[in-house]
Amino acid sequence: MKLLVTGGAGYIGSVVSALLLESGHEVVVLDDLSTGHEDAVPEGARLVRGTLRDTAAEVLGGAGFDAVLHFAAKSLVGESVEKPGLYWDKNLGESLALLEAMRVAGVPRIVFSSTAAVYGEPESTPILETDPTRPTNPYGASKLAIDTTLTEYARLHGIGAVSLRYFNVAGAYGRQGERHDIETHLIPNVLKTAQGERDAVRLFGEDYPTPDGTCVRDYIHVADLGRAHLLALEAGAPGTHEIFNLGSGSGNSVLEVLEVCREVTGREIPAEIAPRRPGDPAVLVASSEKIRTRLGWKVERDLHTMVADAWTFLRSR
Ligand code: UDP
Repeated sequence: MKLLVTGGAGYIGSVVSALLLESGHEVVVLDDLSTGHEDAVPEGARLVRGTLRDTAAEVLGGAGFDAVLHFAAKSLVGESVEKPGLYWDKNLGESLALLEAMRVAGVPRIVFSSTAAVYGEPESTPILETDPTRPTNPYGASKLAIDTTLTEYARLHGIGAVSLRYFNVAGAYGRQGERHDIETHLIPNVLKTAQGERDAVRLFGEDYPTPDGTCVRDYIHVADLGRAHLLALEAGAPGTHEIFNLGSGSGNSVLEVLEVCREVTGREIPAEIAPRRPGDPAVLVASSEKIRTRLGWKVERDLHTMVADAWTFLRSR
């Protein structure tokens, strides 16, 4: 297939681009390089530098693309609370520009990078796709608005859309890994501490209603996540919008993650208890039943592998 990957210079977009190329697809990456890195775009993909608003129509027009995989987004929860307008503009506004460009160019399919943040504070876990969506920040709200728009575009314009709602993505794949300038995620922060980049990792809260008092999350290896996109590409029937959670279906606490990082690195990794981070739910675990039964996807790499691959990647840089 001829595929456009928006945000293909970012962490997840670059891993998925690499997997698509390995499967024999033709890949064009569209990225404004605001947070992505030019050298993260895998060899064999063509990079077009630009925003969706300014360039999507030009890139897609008359070019015979079979599908779009849409990763380009702002994704920092804290920043979204400070600058909601930026998140509505970049996430929803630019996605609308992309969908319009797809409609005009007649591109039939889209796979969208959605998020568990659309669910907000869950009433129960594991979280099902049919559970209420009550995002607690503009990041999650803007992603949910895109999901809603996709439903409309599928209904009105016959596009085949699939949303994958990611839980906690970690690990690396070959030369592609996590390289955020502002790093908020647990595993890279712990590993950077192991490298001596920080004095101690801060553990946000030890009084949650969980077995060890720290938050529980559902970690998924970026390569397992990437494989789901290949399956999703085949699944988007015209006129339908399918939503799948994408997590492992089981959870690990912050302290368990720290322990695995200590094992993998063989380093002590100093840690200190810090106050709770505002807006962190105690437990976020996906039901991965739907994607397993409908797309035949399953987890192949465990937490230990995620940490080991992230560690190898970090040390290679
Ligand atoms: N966390 C932490 N210290 C850090 C980063 C994260 O204790 O430096 C905690 C955070 O409070 C949450 C979990 O680790 O409970 C996962 O956070 P992350 O930002 O990686 O992902 P999120 O679940 O917020 O998407």
